[in-house]
Amino acid sequence: MDKLKQLLHALNGKGYKSYKQIKGCYRFPGHTLEFDHIQGDPFAAPTRITVRVTHEQSHFSTQCWSNASRCLGFEDFVARTVATACQRYVRGRRGSGNSGRIGITTNQQYILKRNALTVHTDHVAARMVVGLPADGRSVAAREAEIMLFDELPQVIRHSLYHDALDVTAMGRHIECCEDQDALRHWLHEENLVAFVADGALLPRRSGVDDQPLSDAPIVFTAPPTLRRTVTLPHAGTVSGMAISSGVTLVVGGGFHGKSTLLRALERGVYNHIPGDGREQVVTVGNAVKIRAEDGRVIHDVDISAFIDHLPFDRDTRHFHTENASGSTSQAANIMEALETGCKALLIDEDTSATNFMIRDERMQQLVARDKEPITPLLHRVRELHRNHDISSVIVMGGSGDYLDVADHVIMMDTYQACDVSEQARALTRADARPPTGLTPWPTLRQRRLPRVLLNAERRNGKTKIDAGDHTTLLYGEHEIDLSRVEQLVDPGQIRTIGQIIRFYVTHYHENTPDSVSGIQRVLTQIATQGLDILMDTKTGTLAVPRLQEIMAAINRIRPD
Ligand code: ADP
Ligand code: MG
Repeated sequence: MDKLKQLLHALNGKGYKSYKQIKGCYRFPGHTLEFDHIQGDPFAAPTRITVRVTHEQSHFSTQCWSNASRCLGFEDFVARTVATACQRYVRGRRGSGNSGRIGITTNQQYILKRNALTVHTDHVAARMVVGLPADGRSVAAREAEIMLFDELPQVIRHSLYHDALDVTAMGRHIECCEDQDALRHWLHEENLVAFVADGALLPRRSGVDDQPLSDAPIVFTAPPTLRRTVTLPHAGTVSGMAISSGVTLVVGGGFHGKSTLLRALERGVYNHIPGDGREQVVTVGNAVKIRAEDGRVIHDVDISAFIDHLPFDRDTRHFHTENASGSTSQAANIMEALETGCKALLIDEDTSATNFMIRDERMQQLVARDKEPITPLLHRVRELHRNHDISSVIVMGGSGDYLDVADHVIMMDTYQACDVSEQARALTRADARPPTGLTPWPTLRQRRLPRVLLNAERRNGKTKIDAGDHTTLLYGEHEIDLSRVEQLVDPGQIRTIGQIIRFYVTHYHENTPDSVSGIQRVLTQIATQGLDILMDTKTGTLAVPRLQEIMAAINRIRPD
């Protein structure tokens, strides 16, 4: 600690690069401070540090991380407390560029496994960033001293010590996380797809703001016929709407809350923070939102179940394109989701290709079967469930055809869910017969994407992996467009996806039969050894993505 002070004094006024000399680890009375990477310029990405506090000093109870769910909730809560303490105790701007900043990465509404704050056998480690202060382009030692010897210790004192935390809020956070995992486990046991608790608050502030709508929202109430109760470890008995496996249709007039419900189900694969409104809205962990995505690339996917005999005999068993249509992209999205072991498809008419979803009778009469390459999902969705145990939740206000194939029909009426399955059954056409003459469902093929496609090196030989913005993964020479992979919720997931693909290529591509099993190996290794295995450099900006989104990124890499 004194050494660091002396070093800083000696560097005062020198060129900014001389900050590099403080690299190393320093012992403070209540913590250790390690510089993992020191920025070379006040305008560069800020300096990365790791702060460690031993359990002996912090007095955290091992109860806080006694299982994986609790540990996730604990780490997330403490990271958020660090972030709040930074806002409170750090003055902020101290000179040019990033000077003066101290921070940690968190997500607003979701509790994700990340590496910003982690529990270890004898300590808690916080990966933070510090914008080392500059006076022009020189070291501002006095300011640095205030940051590292005054502000940072204050932040630590108010976040990484048990007695400084709001213990009630922490307990709630941990228990909320445990309950959501318990709910997901219950879904699995009961063969359900999703659960939406009574009292849940589904609408969000806007399409780009995931915080709960504060303007007089209508809370969710389950229709009595679909209501189930479940006992959670902490919340006790909770009632709500259970969506069973099978085909569930969500109908209702425009602007009555259909998409809002589906969106909540999409996000139900993640845990939410207390107060989010969707803490008890949970979906099976492998559910995938399926949408049309025209223009995307497709690598060797068998879409023949949906698209067959294309003009000029293009092979749809090994379908390649660099510019998919709405329907071919939606078909590929389904087949790729199934390849990852997905058991529930979430589909909204708003983002679907009409010709992929339906083809009505008159159109079937006008365009002969052998002139129409598309078998709409309508004709496959029952078979998907019956033969392959894949459930669907489909928002469809615009066509009654799906009434014939639905097990349950939920109507959204002024943001309230009603069970209209009986009425829908009465409308089912007596002459509705299952479609005939369909191509047999193809055997699921597990692809291994070619190594050349997955190369993270740029032409200059350097590896490049970063999240371009919230929707792009920069990977080697590739810019992978993830804007329509709708279940990504954090830029850290995008960055981590890039690292996982690279890790897969270097460690598992050769010795695993296909990409899904290779990526699964990486995920297993992360679960046991932590996210840090992915990178030599230390950052606190990674967040664990699902297998589904990692594969989505791989599937969207364009060939050079
Ligand atoms: P639909 O898909 O049926 O056309 P949306 O789900 O897009 O309707 O919802 C329409 C609007 O209503 C959105 O702006 C949404 O935020 C709002 N909304 C949805 N559910 C609720 C609710 N429970 N309370 C208040 N507003 C809601
Ligand atoms: Mg809608």
